[in-house]
Amino acid sequence: MNKKQIQDEVDSFARSLRAKYARSCVKPKSKEEMSKQMAKIRSCQTPESREKARLALIGQKRSPESKEKMRQAALGRKQSEATKIKIREARRKQFITPKMLESLKLGRGENSILWKGDDVGYRALHRWVENHLGKPTKCEHCPKDNLSGHYIHWANISGEYKREASDWIRLCALCHKKYDRNKLTS
Ligand SMILES: [Zn+2]
Repeated sequence: MNKKQIQDEVDSFARSLRAKYARSCVKPKSKEEMSKQMAKIRSCQTPESREKARLALIGQKRSPESKEKMRQAALGRKQSEATKIKIREARRKQFITPKMLESLKLGRGENSILWKGDDVGYRALHRWVENHLGKPTKCEHCPKDNLSGHYIHWANISGEYKREASDWIRLCALCHKKYDRNKLTS
């Protein structure tokens, strides 16, 4: 046997071992085993590598199937109060995405490269309204107060969705519905 033959023999043996090892590893792990493994991985991650991993995942495209899987996994997930507060904080910051922020540095409002005049998307327009008028918690038509989220809206007055503070009114969900149906009097 020459050197090459020995090497080939060793290689093929290593291949067969790897195949055997891989087969033995594909058996599904229990949830407990998985979380133990994840804890182990987390324990040897540095904050820098975690940040790197986080940044690498931003903007990652996912297939509809994997999105559905993530949705299912998130359903009914119980979060602690501390986590809820963290999520709320993070969402508040997400109001302007990093990409938008970069664009905003180039100029705000009409100078922004994001500026689309009056031909703006619904979401972008509402973001503009909230950035300029904030998110008051009181309905301007009825006594309801301390409202947030989907309980209180910015309703448009002219129906032309102008980028003008005077074209918006803060209404609770019920008043908004009525307002849009027959443009509340008073
Ligand atoms: Zn109201």
